[in-house]
Amino acid sequence: MSRYAEPMARLIEELKKLPGVGAKSAQRYAFHILRSSDEDAAALAEAVRNLKASLRLCSICNNVTDIDPCVYCASPARNQRMVCVVEEPTSIESVERTRAYQGVYHVLHGTLSPLHGVGPDQLRARSLVERVERGEIDEVILATSPTLEGEATANWLATALHRFPVKITRIATGVPAGSEIEYMDEVTMARAMEGRREI
Ligand SMILES: [Zn+2]
Repeated sequence: MSRYAEPMARLIEELKKLPGVGAKSAQRYAFHILRSSDEDAAALAEAVRNLKASLRLCSICNNVTDIDPCVYCASPARNQRMVCVVEEPTSIESVERTRAYQGVYHVLHGTLSPLHGVGPDQLRARSLVERVERGEIDEVILATSPTLEGEATANWLATALHRFPVKITRIATGVPAGSEIEYMDEVTMARAMEGRREI
C-alpha cells in the first residue's frame, strides 16, 4: 500500500516514468505541483495534452513539428539540397546552435542496434533514400553520434546511398568517441561539421 493518497501516488508513478526521474525526484515534483496554483497545475496538464494532440512528424524529414512540412523543410532561405542526417530531433538543436549550417535535416529516430532489435527497417531512412534517388539532394552529411551504433548506422546509410550520384560526408570524429551528438557544445559541433569528409 502506498503511503500517499491515491491521486498523489498516481502522479508520482507517472512522473517516475520520465528519464532520469527516480522516486525521490518524482515525489518532489508531485508535491511541487500540489502546492502550485490551480492555474499553473492546469497549464502543465494542458501543455502535456497539447503536445500529443498537436505535434507530429514532418512528412519530409521526420522532425517533430506542429506544421507540416516543418520550419526547415519549408524555408526558402535554407539549402534544400543539403541534408544533415541525425539520430534524434534533439540533435538538430546541437547543429543549429553552431549557426553555421544552412541546409536541412533528416531524422532517423534511432540508430541501428541489432542487440535491441533495431534493423534498417525500423529506422526512418526510406524517405531519405527516395529523395536521393529522385536526384533532389546534392550532399548527405552523416551526423550520427561517434558511438558504435552511430558509426554502424552511418556506414549502412553510406552503403545504401553510394549507388546514387550524391556526395556523402561524415562529420569529423575529432569529437570525443562515444559521445552523443546532442551533448556536444557548439564549438565542437561546428568543428565536426567543418571538418566533415567524403566517405
Ligand atoms: Zn521537415
